[in-house]
Amino acid sequence: MQHKPDSTHFETLAVRTQAERSQHREHSVPIFATSSFVFEDAEQARALFAQEQEGNIYSRFSNPNNDEFVQKLCLLEGTEDGIATASGMAAMFLSMAAFVSQGEHVVVSRSVFGSTHQIVTQLFPKWGISHSYVDIADLEGFAAAITPKTKLVFVETPSNPALDLIDLEALADICRAHKVLLVVDNCFATPYLQTPARWGADIVTHSATKFIDGQGRVLGGAVLGSKALIQEARFLARHSGPALSPFHGWVLSKSLETLSVRMDRHCQNALALAEFLEQQPQVAFVKYPFLPSHPQYALAQKQMRAGGGLVSFELKGGLQKGRAFLDKLQLCSLTANLGDTRTTATHPASTTHSKLNSEERAMVGISDGLVRISAGLEHIEDIIQDIAQALGA
Ligand SMILES: *Cc1c(COP(=O)(O)O)cnc(C)c1O
Repeated sequence: MQHKPDSTHFETLAVRTQAERSQHREHSVPIFATSSFVFEDAEQARALFAQEQEGNIYSRFSNPNNDEFVQKLCLLEGTEDGIATASGMAAMFLSMAAFVSQGEHVVVSRSVFGSTHQIVTQLFPKWGISHSYVDIADLEGFAAAITPKTKLVFVETPSNPALDLIDLEALADICRAHKVLLVVDNCFATPYLQTPARWGADIVTHSATKFIDGQGRVLGGAVLGSKALIQEARFLARHSGPALSPFHGWVLSKSLETLSVRMDRHCQNALALAEFLEQQPQVAFVKYPFLPSHPQYALAQKQMRAGGGLVSFELKGGLQKGRAFLDKLQLCSLTANLGDTRTTATHPASTTHSKLNSEERAMVGISDGLVRISAGLEHIEDIIQDIAQALGA
């Protein structure tokens, strides 16, 4: 049971959508730390299991905290239904595995999150599922890669860490024409900046660990889509068990209440940082979707509300300079997470993408001197000062 405000505004929906109050009339929703729920009688137990009646049975299937989180996310994304998962990767896996079978094929944008890449290249072949990679900006390449065996197209936009975009409306048209599902990992943008379902995506997936939690505390994820598609995915979720902890569902639902305010500041700080970096002689180039120098600036303006919290830039001097820069940072954290209140920095060539060789890295837009910054919520003057001193500016 949900209470939904009578509003279409993101901010109001995020704050005022909540599970119905109990007899205690609590203002903030309690945490339903319970593995199971009690049936009124044998008949209700039968009806719930037969899915003739809606209600909670067991927290691997559903839980009020997770329902509140996912139903709120659905309102923000413009989707009908969803499943909350224990991590972003559980969501990525579910969003593909629920819809493909042995002998079928998936088309994937070349620069996807590392573990998504491992699912497609290492796990799917074990189950007879093949794949094709397509460069993110190559719309015709997606159409060309679709075969009669293709079941779905999976993309991430903006991509990590190159921050390249894909035209969601155009890709959705291609997918519809070929009768394949379009699955979009919307982790970097969040529904505040971009709503793929409104451009025609069938499934939207999230790592809620990043900007949705936004404070580096919990792992979580979600798969969202039409009632029919989510019903199909729910079978796999229910019986394979990637359920989100109710406590994490509670944290993430609370986090959605502040998402718009945090994203505004992340975007404002990231844009200011990108503009600063563009002026620095040590920097070869800067990638940020809302910088006019971004090759897809017009597309970014069309499908995103703002440019997001991530900025990538290339240091002159390659691998060595990239690592030296990181070692000099004092305020910014060196950590694999992103979308935190704290500004974080990574050097993909020596960490997340070190298993690829230079050529493979170049194919996904990662040069040896590329640094990725996730702009946090500190004062922008302090962020810039730290980055300037690490650059030796
Ligand atoms: C982090 C991330 C994931 C994986 O999420 P986890 O919560 O770490 O499992 C998937 N996609 C993108 C784009 C991510 O940044």
